[in-house]
Amino acid sequence: MKPSDKALVPFVSVDNMMRLVHHIGVEQMITQIAAQIESDFKRWESFDKTPRIPAHSPHGVIELMPTSDGEAYGFKYVNGHPKNTSEGLQTVTAFGLLADVYTGYPTLLTEMTMLTALRTAATSALVGKYLAPKNASTMAMIGNGAQSEFQCLAFKAMCGIDTVRLYDVDQNATAKCAANLQNKGLTVVACKTPENAIEGAQIITTCTADKKYATILTDNMVGPGVHINAIGGDCPGKTELHRDILLRSEIFVEYPEQTRVEGEIQALDADHPVTEMWQVMTGQAKGRNDDRQITLFDSVGFAIEDFSALRYIKNAIESTDYFEPLDMLADPDDPRDLFGMLMRAQ
Ligand code: NAD
Repeated sequence: MKPSDKALVPFVSVDNMMRLVHHIGVEQMITQIAAQIESDFKRWESFDKTPRIPAHSPHGVIELMPTSDGEAYGFKYVNGHPKNTSEGLQTVTAFGLLADVYTGYPTLLTEMTMLTALRTAATSALVGKYLAPKNASTMAMIGNGAQSEFQCLAFKAMCGIDTVRLYDVDQNATAKCAANLQNKGLTVVACKTPENAIEGAQIITTCTADKKYATILTDNMVGPGVHINAIGGDCPGKTELHRDILLRSEIFVEYPEQTRVEGEIQALDADHPVTEMWQVMTGQAKGRNDDRQITLFDSVGFAIEDFSALRYIKNAIESTDYFEPLDMLADPDDPRDLFGMLMRAQ
C-alpha cells in the first residue's frame, strides 16, 4: 500500500495474523500487547468508556465493544456461544476496526479471534504481575479450550510460571492443551479433578464456558495467598466461582460498570467494594499487600484492551506484507460526486 492509497484500508486476515504471530513469537507478542495495554490503562481517564453493548439470545451473545482516546476510535465485534463447540464451531469469534477520529476514516480492519486470545492472555498476565504472589511457579488451568494455551504461555512469559496443572470436564480438551504445550518450556500435568489441578498452585485460572451460574471452584478449594484469574464468567447468568470465595477475596476489575453486570460480582451487592486495575497500575490503589490475601481478577474483557491490541497490530504491520489493502471506502475524486463515480464505473 502506498501513502496515496488513503482510501484503501489495511485488512489483517486470520492467515496474516498467524504469520505475524509466528514472525514475532507468541510469548513476545503477548508481552508486547501487555505493554501496550498497561500504557493505555495508565492513561485511563483519556478514554471514552461505556459497558459493551450486548445482544442476548437463547443461543449466546453478540457484543460491540467501542472506545476512543480522542485521536483513534476502535471497536470489536465478538460473540460468546458456549453451545457452539458441540456443533464444531468456536465459542468466541471476533473482528475489529480502528478509525481516525479526525477524518472518521477506518485505518485498520482485522480478524480478532486470534487477537482476542492474545490480548486476554496479555491482560491476565499483566494483572498477574501486579497481584500474583511473588515467586509463583505453578498455575492451575481449569477449562482447556481455545484460550487456555495462550493463558499458560502468558503466565510463563510474564509471571515466571514453570508448571501448569490442567483440568477440563472434557479429557480430550486437556489432552489437546497438553499436546499443544509440549516443548514450550512448561512442565505440564494433566489432572483428573479440579481439586487435583489446584494442588500446589499459587495461581488459579478458570476459563470455562457454560451459560449458567457454574461452581468451578468451591470455597474450601481456595487457600490463603492464592491469586485467582477468573476469565470465563463474562455474561449475565454466566459465572464460575462460589459466592463465598468472592466474600473472602480482594476483588480487582477492569471497568466496574461492566463487571457488575457481567462478572463474578453480579452475585454480590451492587456496592460491594472492588478495585479498578488502572488505579493499581498508576499507583493510586494497592494491589496485593499481604501474603495470605486471596486476590481475584474478575476478568470480563474491556474495550480498552481491544483498542490497545488494535493499535499494536496497526504499528506491527507497518512496512510488512502481513495485510491486504481493502477497497471499502468509496472516496470519489470529487467528494460530493458519489453518484457520478457510480455512473462512470458502468
Ligand atoms: P472454549 O469453549 O473453547 O473452552 C471452554 C472449555 O471449558 C471447554 O473445553 C469445556 O469443556 C470446558 N468446561 C466447561 N465446563 C467446565 C467445567 N465445569 N469444568 C472444567 N471445564 C469446563 O471457550 P474459550 O474460547 O476457551 O473461552 C472460555 C471462556 O472464556 C468463555 O466463557 C469465554 O466467553 C470467556 N472469555 C473471556 C474473555 C475475557 O476477556 N474475560 C476473553 C475470551 C473468552
